Amino acid sequence: MKTLRLYYEYGSGEPLTAEILEVRPRADAAVAVILDKTIFYPEGGGQSADRGTINGQPLLDVREQEGGIFHILQAAAPLRPGPAELRLDAKRRQDMTVQHTAQHLLSGTLLRLTGACTQSIHLGEERATIDVDAPELTPQTLLMAEEAVQDAIEEDAPLIIHHCPPERLEDFPLRKRPPQGEEVIRVVEIQGKDFSPCCGTHLRATGKIGMLRILGAEKYKGMTRIAFIAGRRVLRDSRLLRQNGELISRSLKIPVEETGKGVLALLEKLSTQEKRLKDLEEADALHEAAALIVRAGPGSGADVYQELFPHKTMEELLRIGRAAQKTIPHILVLAAAGELKFAAFTSRKDADIRPLLKTALEQCKGRGGGGPSFFQGSFSDPADLSAFLNALPKTLPQGTAD
Ligand SMILES: [Zn+2]
Repeated sequence: MKTLRLYYEYGSGEPLTAEILEVRPRADAAVAVILDKTIFYPEGGGQSADRGTINGQPLLDVREQEGGIFHILQAAAPLRPGPAELRLDAKRRQDMTVQHTAQHLLSGTLLRLTGACTQSIHLGEERATIDVDAPELTPQTLLMAEEAVQDAIEEDAPLIIHHCPPERLEDFPLRKRPPQGEEVIRVVEIQGKDFSPCCGTHLRATGKIGMLRILGAEKYKGMTRIAFIAGRRVLRDSRLLRQNGELISRSLKIPVEETGKGVLALLEKLSTQEKRLKDLEEADALHEAAALIVRAGPGSGADVYQELFPHKTMEELLRIGRAAQKTIPHILVLAAAGELKFAAFTSRKDADIRPLLKTALEQCKGRGGGGPSFFQGSFSDPADLSAFLNALPKTLPQGTAD
């Protein structure tokens, strides 16, 4: 069943009546609708399929297979053979058409300026990319290409569609190889600038692209992948960048033009302050460790010293414990009341603190793990943490540590 293709002429959101010839069930809980004529572009040539509705039911996809055009809709869509109202998502189509035409212009411009040939394209919903067969393109080259594209946009060069039999193709300096096995090849010309075989939708002239911005370039499989936006996408991008720039400008009280430098200076300041804070925390930990050593009483004869800290974090206790254990031979068990956690330390090479802690943990419903000289654990109830600390012996049983 041959479907009449109206999508090249038809780009508006006005409804059009067509005839549903067949509704075919598919394996993936969808149906394929075949129409006598269609305004929907099927996916192809790097351009994604149109969106819109058939009798108010949203189109999920449009595919061209074995010469037929299949409109994919949800299986639950109540569609039957007979007359149907087609409505195109014209805004999306216009956006895709702008991106596609911009892609022709960018590919043609890069070929002319650098000799780099476009090998593949992807026109995404947010940004488009092209892969060109150059291992690297400098920022200056990309800037030059962007300016040359803008010149061509401002010239408002017309696009001309040629329908050409394969044997006449030498008439055109084609940028890429034409498809094989076609009776007629559709050649899209940007007047005198670029000739490319293409089945997609295009603007009538370059002026409607408005503007093209290259977002960046990266190495990709020995080629260069260039990302770009065109048309209203540039306006939206500019608006977003301006909003962000003004937010930073107001926050840092610097002109919007200097926000980049301002943020870098801020990060540098932050890094210096973080280092200073770390030094202060270490100095504080040494001070706290000295006080802890006095409380533990190095000459007391006890092997184990435990303490519950009501206001300190585990991060602070880890610093204090590490500093203190270098000076005293005790097994230190320091607990943070707020976090219901503890850490145990010792610098004694002959000791294994695990059996001692594991026994007390099992008695008091705690969890934990570690090695012979460092161990951490946690509780879900403050009473269990207190009981655990009380359950720890003051001195090690004979044979455990010696
Ligand atoms: Zn095209």
